[in-house]
Amino acid sequence: MGDSSSLDCSVLVLNRFYMAVRVIDVRRAMTLLYRGCAEVITIDEDQYSNYDFESWCELSELQALEKQSDEDFLRTPTRELKVPRIVRLVLYDRIPKSTVRFNRKTLFARDGYRCQYCGQTRPMSQLSLDHVVPRSQGGKTTWENVVCSCLNCNSKKGGRTPSQASMKLLTVPVRPQSNPGIGITLKDPRYESWKTFLTPNVAS
Ligand SMILES: [Zn+2]
Repeated sequence: MGDSSSLDCSVLVLNRFYMAVRVIDVRRAMTLLYRGCAEVITIDEDQYSNYDFESWCELSELQALEKQSDEDFLRTPTRELKVPRIVRLVLYDRIPKSTVRFNRKTLFARDGYRCQYCGQTRPMSQLSLDHVVPRSQGGKTTWENVVCSCLNCNSKKGGRTPSQASMKLLTVPVRPQSNPGIGITLKDPRYESWKTFLTPNVAS
């Protein structure tokens, strides 16, 4: 299928209840659509439309004649297919909260790659996970007790709590409402429609 730049696009996946669950690539989205596992969702002036594979092909054919600058198309040997921005899994009814896995990447994404003590933003290689209440004092490895920290602040704090180290947390760590990784692509105007489905703290 088609040119590589269109295949690099991201597609937001909703569950049956229109709740954002994850982000996938175009190839995966088209496979789900073709198999009937997913439908495309578009939003036009607060009006939702749902398309199955057939009707999405028809719409693509029409819109390929007058492409907008914020649209991407895939070229296949027989036709042009518009790249969907949002698909909905028609049978999937799990609630997204359970899909937020705790790991380095999702935790750094939650904190915006910002040290929660000094407020500086750093690349992932210069950040570490800090247990607010240290493990040596019974602190758990949970969303509520782990924050993103720069290496400086991390070593300064050592095996102490913030108050023992006279350091202050910028925000109270909480479990994210939906997948924090989703927020990263929102600066791109092509993904404007995603905002409808993401919680404010993630979309900001
Ligand atoms: Zn710091």
